Amino acid sequence: MAKEKKGVRLDHISKIYEDPKTKKPFYAVKDVNLDMKPGEFVTLLGPSGCGKTTILRMIAGFESPDEGEIYIGGEAVNDLTPNKRDTAMVFQSYALLPHINVFDNVAYGLKLRKFPKDVIREKVLNILKLVEMDGMEARMTNQLSGGQQQRVALARALVLEPGVLLFDEPLSNLDAKLRVTMRTEIRKIQQKVGITAVYVTHDQSEAMAISDNIIIMSRGHMEQMGSPREVYYKPASKFVADFIGEANFIPVKLEKKHDGKADIDVFGAKLTVLDYSKAEEGGDATLVIRPEAVKLADTGQIGGEVSLSTFMGAYQYYRLLVGGQEVQITDYNPVNRKIYEVGEKAFLDFDPSGVYIL
Ligand code: ATP
Repeated sequence: MAKEKKGVRLDHISKIYEDPKTKKPFYAVKDVNLDMKPGEFVTLLGPSGCGKTTILRMIAGFESPDEGEIYIGGEAVNDLTPNKRDTAMVFQSYALLPHINVFDNVAYGLKLRKFPKDVIREKVLNILKLVEMDGMEARMTNQLSGGQQQRVALARALVLEPGVLLFDEPLSNLDAKLRVTMRTEIRKIQQKVGITAVYVTHDQSEAMAISDNIIIMSRGHMEQMGSPREVYYKPASKFVADFIGEANFIPVKLEKKHDGKADIDVFGAKLTVLDYSKAEEGGDATLVIRPEAVKLADTGQIGGEVSLSTFMGAYQYYRLLVGGQEVQITDYNPVNRKIYEVGEKAFLDFDPSGVYIL
């Protein structure tokens, strides 16, 4: 569908804004690097205010970087206006025109570009079919559901056959169930068309489900970039481990490092775990245990008292008080397993090769 798939490269880009209160300049985006292959789907993920939208707007050309250079399809675009950049943006608000029908909304950009009428008709009908909105051409946009409006917004961007598609929190106005359906749809359509996509969200499960690679941002800088599996299983920092999924953080003593592993002392028990830490031998480190990586057992090395035991349907949710700290445990499909009750003694049962220190 796209005339040409284009890569996106951000080369040490920064954006400085003035704080409206203190009038002091600050880095809203600091030294961000990215090299996206054509056809790749990359998500910018992070808490509110971390700079995600600013990066997207700089790629689109609505803002210009104060430092660094942006390349689209190998071409330096810092000095190009948005309409010269071969990108199209799908907004959170959809930004559909309210008093015209679906067909004319999708055709709008093509009319501006002075395409012949029959070409416009063919392109618009093809795209509406792709987003499963064929037959709805004559509907006014205010007669559409939120999900349908988002499909039209997507069609309107795709019909321009841009080299790069940009998404600014496109699903945040939809209810939770529709968000899940639409994210699958967006990914399906993106893969079908083979278009390069940059997607902004603060929803980590959305980012996991939709992306080839995720960039996790914190206060203007990149904390980590990697595939959903990499950022989940090998987070570069406590911030990432905490932001992606749930995690228990337990302070430990690092005794010895060897072959990417470390011997640690955790509440008096000696274990060998994976080591992604910068800690030195003899120093402090943090043991990261995902709640689903651990179960409860009657025997073991690390014991404590159950402080919470809740049936959640798909899993039993526990908290175990160990060494003055509560460890969260999600025991999936507990139908045939022993259920530990509050006040009972229990031990943590986990495979040491499935946990790591940071
Ligand atoms: P959200 O998820 O809330 O949209 P975000 O990660 O997209 O957040 P940005 O909108 O990129 O964050 O904003 C990054 C920082 O820059 C924030 O501190 C924001 O207040 C600030 N900021 C954004 N636009 C401007 C502006 N035009 N002038 C001054 N500060 C700005």
